Amino acid sequence: MIHKRKKCIQDYSYEEIAAIVLEKGFPKFRSQQIFELSLSYRDWLESSNVPKVVSEAFSDYEIVPAKIISKVIGRRGVTKYLFLLTDNSIVEGVYLPNNYGNTVCISTQVGCAMGCEFCASGINGLIRDLSPGEIQGQVLAVNREKNGTKNNRAISNIVLMGSGEPLNNYCNVVKFIRLISAENGMNISPRNITLSTCGITDKIYLLAKEGLPITLTISLHAASDFDRQKFMPIAKVYSIKDIVKAADYYYSSTGRRVSYEYALTKISSKEESIDDLVKLLKGKPIHINLIRLNPVQEKEVLGSDDKRADEIRKILEDNGISATIRRSLGSDIEGACGQLRNHFLSDEKKIRDFSEYSVIN
Ligand code: SAH
Repeated sequence: MIHKRKKCIQDYSYEEIAAIVLEKGFPKFRSQQIFELSLSYRDWLESSNVPKVVSEAFSDYEIVPAKIISKVIGRRGVTKYLFLLTDNSIVEGVYLPNNYGNTVCISTQVGCAMGCEFCASGINGLIRDLSPGEIQGQVLAVNREKNGTKNNRAISNIVLMGSGEPLNNYCNVVKFIRLISAENGMNISPRNITLSTCGITDKIYLLAKEGLPITLTISLHAASDFDRQKFMPIAKVYSIKDIVKAADYYYSSTGRRVSYEYALTKISSKEESIDDLVKLLKGKPIHINLIRLNPVQEKEVLGSDDKRADEIRKILEDNGISATIRRSLGSDIEGACGQLRNHFLSDEKKIRDFSEYSVIN
């Protein structure tokens, strides 16, 4: 059963929590206690210093807004999570350990309205936007689950590449970035945060003016509008030319090099497509991530093989375009957006009764 979504503490900055604490008539020092508790991602009852009278006054605020209800560990420690939200919606995230720091990939919406052909997130359309606290909650949940704390984080990088189109939930996503990067909060530098978009051009211009030096990634996946429109409906709204112009503006305003995601399908790997890609991006201070598609059971999109992926990388580099082939971490655990959630939801018994699933901390 779907419930009404609750407000949560992680929707607010320290200053905003302090204002609520004052309004409820409690002394100011309670603000710091509540703020610390919310970042340690412990429930009211787990706190040794927030008294019952305070937590009761905050009973309409959830303090653990995204609960881990399922965890699958794959190769090299990649861990896929399902998070249960207060209205019984489910989103997913992935933890990717790395030598230079651990990354968590999180969702910004329940479902997705974009309907890209190869992606599992949009199969049932958009359900709703996530609040800033629900987005933050996913990071905090994984940080706690991996034995991190506020001052000794288990996570150093965040990518907004789970389900949803972050720029279609613009205000909440920007607030999330401000909250998670706050010096008195988790203090994760915006430079370590990557936002991936299918190219909502007008929002890219807005983002460029936020003063947040995050990395912008464009899910391009095709070098001509004609090809792109075949599997990304949004391509009928925004042309590649306009997207690249907006991305160039983002670079000139922020000094942050933009990345392009280019999934290797039979169409996008063709010689003409790669020629178009070179023409489009040659000479620009950009990076291309060539992506080997994870197979999605419900979707039939043919990928290209390792040999062709290598050839394409070489062609790009010969043209002075920096490119890497994304290692397909997570394919063994359904690492592609939306896959794990879809399989979970297809088991009707699980939808009917979450209570039989223990919450993992
Ligand atoms: N809506 C945003 C962010 C979510 S998708 C966007 O479009 O960028 C994050 C990335 O995963 C996108 O580049 C998307 O194209 C890619 N992706 C989706 N399904 C995939 C699959 N089956 N295999 C590999 N990558 C996939």
